[in-house]
Amino acid sequence: MKYISTRGQAPAVNSVEALLNGIAPDGGLYIPEVTLKGLEPLPAGADFRTTMEALLERFFDDIPADVRQHAVAASLARFRAEDVVPLKSFGKTHFLELFHGPTYAFKDVALTLLPHLMHYAAKVKGIERVCVLTATSGDTGSAAMQGFAGIEGTEVLVFYPQTGTSEIQRRQMVCCPGENVHACAIQGNFDDAQAAVKAAFADEALNAQAQAAGCLLSSANSINIGRLFPQICYYIDCARRLGEPFDVVVPTGNFGNILAAHFASMLGAPIQRLVVASNANRVICDFVQAGQYDARREFYITNSPSMDILISSNVERLLYLLTQGDTDRVREMIQGQKSEGLFALPAEAQAAMKVRYASGWATPEETESAIRAIWDKYHYLADPHTAIGWKVLQEQPDTGRPVVIAGTASPWKFPVTMMRALTGETIADEFAAAEALAAFSGETPALLDLREATIRHSDVVAKDKVPEAIVRTFAL
Ligand SMILES: *Cc1c(COP(=O)(O)O)cnc(C)c1O
Repeated sequence: MKYISTRGQAPAVNSVEALLNGIAPDGGLYIPEVTLKGLEPLPAGADFRTTMEALLERFFDDIPADVRQHAVAASLARFRAEDVVPLKSFGKTHFLELFHGPTYAFKDVALTLLPHLMHYAAKVKGIERVCVLTATSGDTGSAAMQGFAGIEGTEVLVFYPQTGTSEIQRRQMVCCPGENVHACAIQGNFDDAQAAVKAAFADEALNAQAQAAGCLLSSANSINIGRLFPQICYYIDCARRLGEPFDVVVPTGNFGNILAAHFASMLGAPIQRLVVASNANRVICDFVQAGQYDARREFYITNSPSMDILISSNVERLLYLLTQGDTDRVREMIQGQKSEGLFALPAEAQAAMKVRYASGWATPEETESAIRAIWDKYHYLADPHTAIGWKVLQEQPDTGRPVVIAGTASPWKFPVTMMRALTGETIADEFAAAEALAAFSGETPALLDLREATIRHSDVVAKDKVPEAIVRTFAL
């Protein structure tokens, strides 16, 4: 499998190179060269594991089979649920619980796997150290740290917004053990963190300095093919379990998870509608409805912090798909976004999007009402992100098909919001809120051990001091 850039000005590479580069040298995102020629269907295997093995064989075919198998085994060993991603079904509404990995959010699916692939990629390319830089709105950071901790030849530095993550999310990062993983707060929001990390990758002096120190700067954000493609697995596995055509609703931020569903449908999973669920930062919701991506708007800190994003990286891959690989057009649109803060889809591309995509959004208040409504209706605890998915689903026309809502995080990551939603009571201390939530719901709490965990990473930097933090942390 060869990967080309969405901007059309970088050489085709194999998966090992795409994994290590993260982003293509022309600034674009890697996408399989065969994408538009039609991907061969990828039938589900007997279970999640065999589907994942088949998926890796397809997308990472230059990595030896034993390395891939070891990666899958090591990844799945870290999941608490026997079927990895349980499906909780209430009539035609299904919650696909993607959060039974080490950090209780869906990002664990790819991030328990990717480090093993990267370790191999570095070895085969003779790279001493892969230094992974990641911007996080809350969940990617801890998942990257947990995934890479102890993986030889790799190091991780995570930048997270100083305000915006929950206390539990913050502790999952700052208390994460492992000599080779680091977290640093940035005085700004997620978009600031993401922009700073992107700038670091484009910083030639910094990259040269890293190279001289035997280190390759790479990324574990969902721009990396090692993040995006493993996520396809659970949609294909879901198709096996449902056995009939279905729609998906995906709480969306950086557009990675829903794009994985889009790829799953191109690989033969009978997914009909793809429904984007946004929070108050509803730039993608509006994009789906109006065909114009306009990031010139106020940024809100919400109670679904992992979706507090205005510049959504993976939209670039969607633009490539919607324009039938018109890389000049993609470049123009991304340029427009950079210089004016907005771009519009060509009419045909907008029509193509309307055929597959729908969207909706929820305010923080509506998010809490949805948590409450889901509990009242099904006696089910849905985290704020997942609850937005359910709320958006209620506004969609009933197609009669089953609908799978991506359950992107565990409710135990956001106990304060859960309690306020369910009881009206605001318990500011997150751990006290978790205990109250356990008492309220009768369910077993999780993540309480973070209360006593030792803080290991306390760096804070201004948003223009990120390069210095990188040099310091990786000792470049
Ligand atoms: C990351 C995340 C999202 C957004 O996923 P994208 O792939 O960035 O669209 C939604 N919910 C939760 C809980 C997340 O951690």
